[in-house]
Amino acid sequence: MKITDVLVIGAGLAGERCAIEAAAAGHSVLILSLVPPRRSHSCAAQGGMQAALGNCAKAEGDSPDVHFLDTVRGSDWGADQEVARIFADNAPVAVRELAHFGVPWTRLRPGTNRYHIKGQQVDIEEPAENAGLIMHRDFGGTAKWRACYAAAGTGHATLYAVDSQVVRLGIDVLDRMEAIALVQDGERCHGAVVRCLRTGRLETIMAKATVIATGGYGRIYGNYTTNAVINEGVGASLALDTGVVPLGNMEAVQFHPTGLWPAGILVTEGCRGDGGYLLNAAGERFLVDLEPEKQELASRDVVSRHMMNEILAGRGENSPNGPHLWLDLRHLGEQHLTTRLREIYEICRDFLGIRPWEALVPVRPTQHYSMGGVRVNKDGQAYGLGGLFAVGEAACWDMHGFNRLGGNSLAETLVAGRVVGARIAEFVSASGPGPDSGLGRQALRAQESRIAALAQRSHGGRSIYAIRDELGEIMMNRLGVFRSGDEIETAIGDLNGLIREAEGIGLRSSAPGSNPELTFALRLLGMLKLGLITAMGALARTESRGAHYRTDYPQRNDAEWLNRTLAHWREGADAPELSYEPVGLLDLPPGHRGYGASSQVEMQQTVADYNASVSAAQAAAGRLPSTEALGARLRPGAWQGAFSAPT
Ligand SMILES: Cc1cc2nc3c(=O)[nH]c(=O)nc-3n(C[C@H](O)[C@H](O)[C@H](O)COP(=O)(O)OP(=O)(O)OC[C@H]3O[C@@H](n4cnc5c(N)ncnc54)[C@H](O)[C@@H]3O)c2cc1C
Repeated sequence: MKITDVLVIGAGLAGERCAIEAAAAGHSVLILSLVPPRRSHSCAAQGGMQAALGNCAKAEGDSPDVHFLDTVRGSDWGADQEVARIFADNAPVAVRELAHFGVPWTRLRPGTNRYHIKGQQVDIEEPAENAGLIMHRDFGGTAKWRACYAAAGTGHATLYAVDSQVVRLGIDVLDRMEAIALVQDGERCHGAVVRCLRTGRLETIMAKATVIATGGYGRIYGNYTTNAVINEGVGASLALDTGVVPLGNMEAVQFHPTGLWPAGILVTEGCRGDGGYLLNAAGERFLVDLEPEKQELASRDVVSRHMMNEILAGRGENSPNGPHLWLDLRHLGEQHLTTRLREIYEICRDFLGIRPWEALVPVRPTQHYSMGGVRVNKDGQAYGLGGLFAVGEAACWDMHGFNRLGGNSLAETLVAGRVVGARIAEFVSASGPGPDSGLGRQALRAQESRIAALAQRSHGGRSIYAIRDELGEIMMNRLGVFRSGDEIETAIGDLNGLIREAEGIGLRSSAPGSNPELTFALRLLGMLKLGLITAMGALARTESRGAHYRTDYPQRNDAEWLNRTLAHWREGADAPELSYEPVGLLDLPPGHRGYGASSQVEMQQTVADYNASVSAAQAAAGRLPSTEALGARLRPGAWQGAFSAPT
């Protein structure tokens, strides 16, 4: 049994940044990871990180207020606006801090720069006094150019820099170690039971604060995802299995317009930000007419829907793997593609055998980001269980609502890491001694029994991988870009069938040590439950908001659905339980996003009445009190000034 002040489960950007904050405050910190930290999924992020620095000509007049506006509109008003303010306010600090950690941000070149904007080549003068400042690209459908980037390797550069700080501070990282259950007594979390992926040995790690930083649950969509194979949603399962911690908005799943078809590898939005076009089989730029204002850079949910409509209307390019559309980068030229978008050039060369300045790139909307996750308060503390925190993509802190803006996720990992890390440090300082180790031993024995039962069952039915693949097909075909009540009901029936099947599975190999089949078997039931919760949330939500689009309920409904879905799976229950809480205090009242269809059912309550009910409703839903009214310097209503800022 190990003992630490802070146990961080996950060594991606969010987990590591959070660990740095707690360690710098003098607490002992231990980080767990399935893979060596630098191979976490954050490393794959290509395009950029949003922060309102306002450095280049197209960013003039930008501010955290404008960033806040973009984030809330992008979320389709599903975000917690207090969190969005904290985020927008802190993002510039997080990006500048990374510069000090050594991230090689692409810098501004003074003089005449040539850009592609809405299909036109445009020459813009960048002033000499801004030479060498952090440059921005057009990314995420924002009002101002705001995404900071390190060529097309932003996540790579950032994760390496943050991990170097972890090494510098001497924080212990245990890789190839998987948390498989939390140690908790129904009121407080005290650590986790951990399984070594090399030896199969189980161990308990007791901690005053435990942090879930395990990334998204994209792999419940099988291979139809840009996510790495390690993004199987284990963190969400750990929280769900407590019976007391809810998951928030699991039906809020983002599809990225340009997953390489059929491999699923992401082709960054930075390509469209730098001027790439989307074409149908006839070579037409269909988004010019459909979204005259933002064109290819409308928000991801909107672009993905237009693309699927184009395909469904028979205007896609047929291929043996099904129809797709094209991304045209040819006009950006070899020089641009091999420098500012170098990773994209390499992906096209290595996976398709093409040169993107000569050939079109086949793309199609693909699962990409998990807006849903472990529901936490402003401090990052999980609802219902003291001492448990969540950060990054694993969490539903909720600055993304029903659609996360491109570039906001990397920024969230660092901002949340800083903010939540600081709260954790305070929490640990105020904590007394932990419980006696009996609770840890009890949790360990429960996991030993679970594994023994699995290993003893002889293999009779289908392989666990066949069940996993069926889950992916169900999720993509019935809970994809377009959803309808009938389809979702069918999915729920099928998923319940798979859950029953998975409860009785046996293994082909019962080797206790390095056994990939056992490792995956321990995750499978959790993945199926996440799929079921996603489906049930999507069925119940009879409206269309952000990435959740119901063909049978196409309007956003602020009268009935200006809320967040919470899903508990109570101990011993055979089905999850859904409940709802308000999205949070409204500062920017619901309105039109500025792109996509504008049809919505107006809210009936006044904003003041809605706000008056927020705290009580959220507390009733299990929200633990925050340590303070977290200090964003962005005052409520500050965004109003942004409307008159130069565009
Ligand atoms: C291809 C791609 C490109 C992207 N590009 C951008 C971009 O340009 N801009 C942007 O803002 N966002 C981008 N995103 C999103 C962004 O990269 C992610 O949301 C973000 O990096 C998630 O970071 P994280 O720290 O929350 O999780 P991750 O980086 O996924 O890290 C999760 C960690 O948890 C560990 N882990 C998981 N389960 C367990 C367990 N049970 N026990 C122990 N450890 C565990 C893993 O080993 C890993 O270390 C992109 C995403 C993808 C898929």
